[in-house]
Amino acid sequence: MALTTEQLKSMHWSEILAERIISEKKPPFVVTSGITTSGPTHLGTLCEFLFPNAIATQLRTRGFQADFYFIADIYDAFDSVPISMMKYESTLTPHLGKPLCDVPDPLGCCNSFGDHYLNETRRIMERFNVHPKIVRAVDVYKEGRFDELARFFLANEEKVKRVVAESSMRELPEWWSPLMPICQNCGRIATTRVTAHGNDWYEYKCDRDVEYTKGCGFSGRNKLSDHVYKLTWRLHWPAWMVVFNTSVEGAGVDHHTRGGSWDTCTAIFKEIFQREPPIGYKFGFILLQGKKYSKSKGVGMGVTDLLELMPPELITYSLIKPDLQENKDVDPTGVKLMNLYEDFQRAAKLSEEENTDVSRAEHKKIIAFRLSTGGKINWKASFADILMYYQLYRDWSKVAERSGDPEGTNYLRPFIEKWVSREFAPEEYRFSFNPTTISKNIAAVRAFAEKLTDSMDAVTIHNLVFSVANENGIQPSELFTTLYTALLGKEKGPRMGKLVEAIGIAKVKETLERVSRG
Ligand SMILES: [Zn+2]
Ligand SMILES: [Zn+2]
Repeated sequence: MALTTEQLKSMHWSEILAERIISEKKPPFVVTSGITTSGPTHLGTLCEFLFPNAIATQLRTRGFQADFYFIADIYDAFDSVPISMMKYESTLTPHLGKPLCDVPDPLGCCNSFGDHYLNETRRIMERFNVHPKIVRAVDVYKEGRFDELARFFLANEEKVKRVVAESSMRELPEWWSPLMPICQNCGRIATTRVTAHGNDWYEYKCDRDVEYTKGCGFSGRNKLSDHVYKLTWRLHWPAWMVVFNTSVEGAGVDHHTRGGSWDTCTAIFKEIFQREPPIGYKFGFILLQGKKYSKSKGVGMGVTDLLELMPPELITYSLIKPDLQENKDVDPTGVKLMNLYEDFQRAAKLSEEENTDVSRAEHKKIIAFRLSTGGKINWKASFADILMYYQLYRDWSKVAERSGDPEGTNYLRPFIEKWVSREFAPEEYRFSFNPTTISKNIAAVRAFAEKLTDSMDAVTIHNLVFSVANENGIQPSELFTTLYTALLGKEKGPRMGKLVEAIGIAKVKETLERVSRG
């Protein structure tokens, strides 16, 4: 089905990709993605499971079988000690250059260093309610599922080398080989090179210096069927797409630059496998408060920290809603987070209304909301209200009662507590009930107090500030400031109508009369 430009503009990116997969590939569809499990799960890792999961969901919604394989590149070389493991540096350093799955877990809780981080990612995926088929690359190699491709690459080595060199726009060393042997003496994969090979055997020397480690000097010989090799990255990627029969796979923009690994991938498919490559898509960077994550610096917040500050579905929503290629800025602080909550709740409402006459932006919101939640929101009261009640009462049973949404309040409670304790609430929402004697605008404040009646709702109260200010010949903003000072002891606060309602009209009347007595 060919879609018109107008139709495409109205669709969410996950819908566009799903339609394209259905028209270009054959079911059952396979969505793949992968990460190297060499350090803590960071925001970029989220894209590697949230985006493919969204695509698989769209395909299933359209009645097709779609499998999502998440491949952990745990057979890659351990090339640096992450910041968070620096205290184990002396234990870990001797293992540099070995596959991640052969490095012991210094914490002792997992089968290996690589598994330690894979398990962390596993737990995080569960929090996000994403359940792919998780594959450890080493297991696939050990099962021999790459052997046939390895044999094929060895048999066509010259041509493969040329395609890799051309597509990556770089010169390859004379010793370049499709294979990365694992040294049978020291266990390293980063320091070996193939010196000779036949169809299903190879000889290697472990003598390379890769700056962070050096080879041991050993020379050895293995058969492919010993399963102690890995394909070099530029071949490993297209090879796994053959092994898993991938229909679609995405990667960050850094893999999609000219000469990047996606270029090699498509070239290998076209020139070596002589078939069409899977559909590729690229996604932008994820920034945290405008900054790019840096593995080497370990800068910023990990996903685990972020999950203490905001519910996973809200993170998913914020990453899935924008255009795929856009850089996404995650900001769990202040007004930005409050706006995100508000936007999310608006999306929930739109989704529930099932109105077909919605704008393009609204449609994309609805899709992002459904993909993030399965269509159900875990709280009904507004985040701003719950936050306000919490600041006012510091008593969750009272907050639950006043919000009229005990379940939702209970759900948001840990996030709000953490958020407030880290002082991420915006200035207007950092307050407590703190009656303070005022010396200005006394007449207006007293008039306001007198006119307040029990039957008034938040909007009426808000409007009352304007009319009283006018009657008393002062700017409304000035009366707002004085009222906040009188009630909270500071010049700013949450929306006045809501605040007065929350404190209680009788209590506000009594307080204002008292603090304006002079
Ligand atoms: Zn562990
Ligand atoms: Zn060695």
